[in-house]
Amino acid sequence: ELSLERPSQTRVFTVSNQKGGVGKTTSTVNLAAALADHGFNVLVIDIDPQGNASTGLGVPHSADTDSIYDVLIDDLTMAEVVADCPDIERLSVVPATIHLAGAEIELVSLVAREQRLQRALDEYVRYREEQGLERLDYVFIDCPPSLGLLTVNAFVAAKEVLIPIQCEYYALEGLSQLLSNINMIQKHLNPVLEVSTILLTMYDARTNLAAQVVDEVKEHFPNEVLDSKIPRSVRIAEAPSYQQSVISYDRASTGALAYLEAAAEIVQRGS
Ligand code: ADP
Ligand code: MG
Repeated sequence: ELSLERPSQTRVFTVSNQKGGVGKTTSTVNLAAALADHGFNVLVIDIDPQGNASTGLGVPHSADTDSIYDVLIDDLTMAEVVADCPDIERLSVVPATIHLAGAEIELVSLVAREQRLQRALDEYVRYREEQGLERLDYVFIDCPPSLGLLTVNAFVAAKEVLIPIQCEYYALEGLSQLLSNINMIQKHLNPVLEVSTILLTMYDARTNLAAQVVDEVKEHFPNEVLDSKIPRSVRIAEAPSYQQSVISYDRASTGALAYLEAAAEIVQRGS
């Protein structure tokens, strides 16, 4: 087995794709759990008002929970709202609540509206250092499907973009829009942002269609596509209803193994 080294600095990923239902949240939850399982210190920041990543990692996110909303709008610190994932060591979560739905509008009139997540995360990284806590190795930000101010905040706070692509008809639909938005962010707000990783999800090795999608995606992103693909798996789909990642729900399942492998590949490729 290859040894997995800690990155020399915290790697921050935004998990983004304008299409809904392509596996953004599932990949955020399970890659984060897999990296923690591999021994890394991992933080998930949920900025989707649905709060599915919070649910999937077993962290409370009812309306009265202090959450990323309070960080972005009311200047609470991340340290004040972060919660430990109950069944995975080294994994913590900044939850989202339904209040976030209003944040898109509330952010508009705030100072530094595009940088609020970045500032809060920087502050949290400094706080951990001051407290003598171990450095975070990986941070994943789970985005809503829209390209509003919440997603802009994620693009500004991250250096890497991870795009999950579902191996289905119209897999590449909307991607050019996403890429031109990323371009705009690079130009005006975050010059170091890059699409570093493409993860193929819901892959079915038995169909020609899946193979075609893989070829097409590789044509566009020859260096970014991970070799590990995530298969369609009942275990992956079931795990959230037990408020668990597939890593803790059924670690021996093909779905869990695929995410553990994809996570190892992300580590080995580096940033
Ligand atoms: P997004 O966050 O992009 O909207 P989700 O991660 O919520 O997408 O996934 C959409 C749906 O597909 C969910 O019901 C999820 O459980 C299911 N799903 C995601 N990945 C897989 C997979 N590899 N196998 C089976 N079901 C999956
Ligand atoms: Mg989602």
